[in-house]
Amino acid sequence: MVPEADFPRHLECPITLGIFHDPMITKCGHTFSSAALFKHIEKQKFCPTCKKSVAFEDIVPNIAIREQVEAFRSKKAAAAKKKLEAMK
Ligand SMILES: [Zn+2]
Repeated sequence: MVPEADFPRHLECPITLGIFHDPMITKCGHTFSSAALFKHIEKQKFCPTCKKSVAFEDIVPNIAIREQVEAFRSKKAAAAKKKLEAMK
């Protein structure tokens, strides 16, 4: 995995503590990376953050956060490219 320490805190998954990967939102409004959330729900049917009951059918993709992760990644890629070009 690529270390990504410098991502904005609102894009941090409370389970993995890494940047959201395939973010999903629960009916209580909390967002998690899908793989980590599914693993949690398989064992415990409640939200890892607020402990309200959550089932698989209560989880939908968080498009807004997904777009923010994409935007952050492309911004970072553009910055890295600019840095490389400056070294030429
Ligand atoms: Zn919750």
